[in-house]
Amino acid sequence: MSSFNSPVIVWFRQDLRLADNPALFFAGQKGTVIPIFIDDRANNSEWSPGAASCCWLHHSLDDLNHQLDGCLKLFQGEPLSILIQLIKETGANTVVWNRCYTPHAIRRDTNIKERLLAEGIEVASFNGSLLWEPWEIYTKSGTPYKVFTPYYRKGCLNAKPPQTPVSKPKLQIHFSEDSGQQLALDQLKLLPEHSWANQITDHWSISEASAWALLHKFTEERLKSYSQNRDFPAKQATSSLSPYLRWGQISPRQVWHYSQQQCSTPGLEHPLDTFLKEIAWREFSYYQLYHSPSMTEENLNQKFNRFPWRHHKESCQTWQRGQTGFPIIDAGMRELWQTGYMHNRVRMLVASFLVKNQLQHWHNGARWFWDTLVDADLASNSASWQWVAGCGNDAAPYFRIFNPVVQGIKFDPQGEYVRRYIPELNNLPDCYIHTPWDAPESILLDAQVTLGTTYPQPILDLNTTRKRALSAYTELKKLP
Ligand code: FAD
Repeated sequence: MSSFNSPVIVWFRQDLRLADNPALFFAGQKGTVIPIFIDDRANNSEWSPGAASCCWLHHSLDDLNHQLDGCLKLFQGEPLSILIQLIKETGANTVVWNRCYTPHAIRRDTNIKERLLAEGIEVASFNGSLLWEPWEIYTKSGTPYKVFTPYYRKGCLNAKPPQTPVSKPKLQIHFSEDSGQQLALDQLKLLPEHSWANQITDHWSISEASAWALLHKFTEERLKSYSQNRDFPAKQATSSLSPYLRWGQISPRQVWHYSQQQCSTPGLEHPLDTFLKEIAWREFSYYQLYHSPSMTEENLNQKFNRFPWRHHKESCQTWQRGQTGFPIIDAGMRELWQTGYMHNRVRMLVASFLVKNQLQHWHNGARWFWDTLVDADLASNSASWQWVAGCGNDAAPYFRIFNPVVQGIKFDPQGEYVRRYIPELNNLPDCYIHTPWDAPESILLDAQVTLGTTYPQPILDLNTTRKRALSAYTELKKLP
């Protein structure tokens, strides 16, 4: 145990909040704390956070530092040596953190824990970002669940309920002179150099308080119609909490418990159940990543290793830039570029379009999302791409190929979402907004649309490419 007066280092990572932060709470009870963040992107070349995530991280650290009265110490480099140096300088003999669950973080933290323990330093880690530990939920036969519904209904809901959140601790922050290794926020160089970053952050208020404001707004105004409205991208019907959950400005336990407390009114059981199930999809993604750490790269269904993906850089770029000629796809890709976010229904459509109509490997989509999403999360992103591509656990059946026109008409009937992100189609009547190529010349003229000039012609034929994907899949199924 640490002696009473020696300070405790709290290593913030993906838990950039003060409330319901079990590591911080523990440290606060023990004595004075030294709050730190270490930017170790250089040590994780594979999946170091993408540009949009880094931008989010910059503003989150700024908020956290303000909340800690400017006492958050920032470092860059290899965490073990930074911790050891800091321990020497401050006399701290305890280091605490909330667990991260990506393969890189597990390897890193296991090694650091061993090394610090060997030096006689006390180390304690906590669960601050999941409702259930992935190693606590198994089928009756002791194997990990592969299918979401039994995982959630039989596994999670029969396990110990998620812990009640802990409160914001009263902190005594340890004073120490700046060590040579400490950096200012700007020196971490998290913001991309081009103006794209500012465009993204204009759409968000990035702080712990803003996460709570969104949760309040969601439970008061949106939750009751969540089940009916959540698939309509033009409606503000979902919580928009994903980037805050990603960086831990709010915890899933806070969301879980608070939304249940607010929804004790009869009649809200159904939307609440739907919402909690979505939170549980996030858990399931982490669960899968924990039990199949190679899923960020490898198909969970290995038969797909022999799938005849096409490798067309230009085709991918057309998709990335929102220039496919299919309005709902292009609107989604432009929403992503402009805001760092994309509505869930549209994520499914653009992903299906890329992997099935364009026959591009899901890696290409996952990488682009990784770089441009503010909520880019290794578990949810990898699991979702594998789900859409048909190669994941409990994946969408391969033959379910979304038709962007049918889906557009169904979920954006007046083209409100499309018009928001594709202003050049603004004047088209609703009946052609998802099929501009069907509009008579006079209508296009009136709407000031010239296909191939002001807006692209469709880059592919939906029927032909659908058949091509299905026949590739039929061949794959025949393989031994
Ligand atoms: P809400 O509908 O309000 O849901 C509440 C929370 O539940 C979300 O904030 C999120 O944490 C979780 N959640 C909801 N749906 C899912 C889901 N299908 N899988 C996992 N968690 C879910 N989500 C990410 O957080 N990061 C990603 O990198 C990511 N990549 C995706 C890639 C693809 C191809 C697809 C189809 C989905 C991806 N998702 C990802 C899941 C989902 O699209 C987002 O979580 C959701 O759109 C976030 O909006 P929201 O916070 O308003 O969600």
